[in-house]
Formats: sequence, C-alpha cells, structure tokens
Amino acid sequence: MKAVRYHKSGAPDVLTYEDAPDPRPGPGEVVVRVAACAVNRLDIWARSGRYPTQLPHILGTDVSGEVVDAGTGVVGVEKGTHVVVYPVISDGTCQFCLKGMPNLCLRRGFVGIATDGGYAELVKVPEANVIPTGTVEPKMAAAMPVDFGTAWSGLAKAKVGAGDVVLVWGAAGGLGHAAVQISKSLGAEVIAGVNGATKAGFVKSLGADHVIDYGSVDIVEATKSLTGGLGASVVFDHVGGETWGKSVDCLARGGRLVSLGLTSGPKSEVDVRRVYSDELKIMGVYGQSKADIANVLKLAADGKLTPSIYKELPLSSAKEAHEVVESRGVRGKVLLLP
Ligand SMILES: [Zn+2]
Repeated sequence: MKAVRYHKSGAPDVLTYEDAPDPRPGPGEVVVRVAACAVNRLDIWARSGRYPTQLPHILGTDVSGEVVDAGTGVVGVEKGTHVVVYPVISDGTCQFCLKGMPNLCLRRGFVGIATDGGYAELVKVPEANVIPTGTVEPKMAAAMPVDFGTAWSGLAKAKVGAGDVVLVWGAAGGLGHAAVQISKSLGAEVIAGVNGATKAGFVKSLGADHVIDYGSVDIVEATKSLTGGLGASVVFDHVGGETWGKSVDCLARGGRLVSLGLTSGPKSEVDVRRVYSDELKIMGVYGQSKADIANVLKLAADGKLTPSIYKELPLSSAKEAHEVVESRGVRGKVLLLP
C-alpha cells in the first residue's frame, strides 16, 4: 500500500510518501480502507519527536473508512461497514478500563502514536476500536473523533445547558470550532475567543453569540462586560499555560473550567483565592469515550453539528498539511485523502 511514513523525527519534510507493507489483521483485529484522515496537533508533536514512536512510523489518529478485512474471532463488525476509528487503545483489564474509562487506562495509547495510523491506504485496529458512521459521510466523519468527541466529553462533564455562558478559547481551530457548535446545540450562550479579528466571521457562522479578539482586547474585561460583570459560567480552555490564569479570572462564581490540553506551555499562575472562595470547579478532560463519539456522529447525522473542512489534500501532500496546521491560521480541520 501507499503510506506516509517518517524514518526519523523532525521537521515536516521527514514525512515521506512511499510503499509500506499491507497490514494483516490478527485475532480480534480489522483492517480499514482509509477514506479520509484528519491532521491533529498530536501528529505534529509525534513527528517532531515530542511523542516518541516506533520507526518507521505512520501517523493518523482521526480516521474514517470501510472495513475490508477481519481477523479470527471478529464477530461484531462486518466487511463493508463504514466506520470511524476510536482513537484510544486500552488493555481492557485495568481498574479504569473495568470502570468504563478506557481513556484513563494505565496502559493507554492512541492509534497513530502507539500503533500505525491512518496516513495510509489501509490501517489495522482492534475490532473494539471501530464505530459505525451511519449516514455521516466519510470526510465529515474523519473530522470528528478527536475534536468533536473530546469537546463533547468536556462539555458533557461540565453539564453545559440552557442558561450557561460558555467562553471558548481558540474558537476557530479544530477543537474550538467543535466546542462552539456543541455548546450551541446544548442550548448555551457562546462567547468565541479568537486571536485575530479575521476569524470573527467564521465563528459567527458557527453560531457564536459574541466574539472577543483577545489579540487586541483584554479577554477578562470583555467577558465581564458581556455578562453583566458576572463572568462566564463555563470556560473551555485547550491553550494551557498562557491562558489558564485568565480562564479562572473569566469565570463567574460557581463556574467550571474545562481543561482539555494545551498548545502553549504547561505552567500558569492562578489566583487560588478565586478557586475556593467562588467555588470554581476545575475539570480535566483527556480524550473521549466511544459513547462521546457516537453522540457527536448522531448529532452530525441530524444536521446539528457540521465539522468545517478547511483544506483537503492528497495523502502525498502530508508535509504541506502539517505546515498548514502549524501555521495556526486554520479554521476547522485539514484532511488527507489517500
Ligand atoms: Zn486499562
């Protein structure tokens, strides 16, 4: 098969479009013919060496396609089924797996990091890692598991609903644009935070009620001003160290800070007094469950969520796709098509 591999970590030009062996399914495994694979920041970090992988390695965590082969013992999925890949690999036996939290598995990994992923014509995954896509078309489906699944997981944990005001950092990016749409679908008022006024029109088109360009105004003052001085009841933060302290300052009393990762550094200065005296809740979110992904696929099938595809590129242009994602100008998702 054709695949994009890297033989050493480094800059985008280590990504090489080449021939690789076809994956053969072992017991309990299926092979998916890849229709589309979305590019995530996780891919960038692995390629650059922040997440070591076996070499040569095939990236690709967000995959949709059709099941074309199955190993012995596979009973739950038939050839020809259109699926997305559930990205979390778990052992199924540790105390967290047994409690239904595979994303906290003591031996967790991700498809495309711990194993070869979807930057290829074919990918092999455990049977437990496929989810039927129903009527959601393959490109849309590939754009959903990591960003929409994770955003759903966080906003559901925060019990977002009518009456909430949700502030979303980085609202034009993959995770942010998912959070805006999901928050609106749950009945909340949404303040979209963007870095650069040129993204305002995009986030408004997703349904955002207000837009704050935190590249040019103070996000804390602007959030207070939009909420009658109270602050947001939920802040959706996937930027990390640069923003955490401000996220706390943006919250209303009793507010929930949903922390889903970082694109800036890991350290932040937080006014701890606000956390206890205003009974703030800090909610960490790592990955997502299969049910989270099934939920967002259903909402997409019903027309309530629509992943925005910023760019589609052939698999052979993976280097360009990484450069686009690293440019930070992205609105929505970048897809690779084998
Ligand atoms: Zn486990």
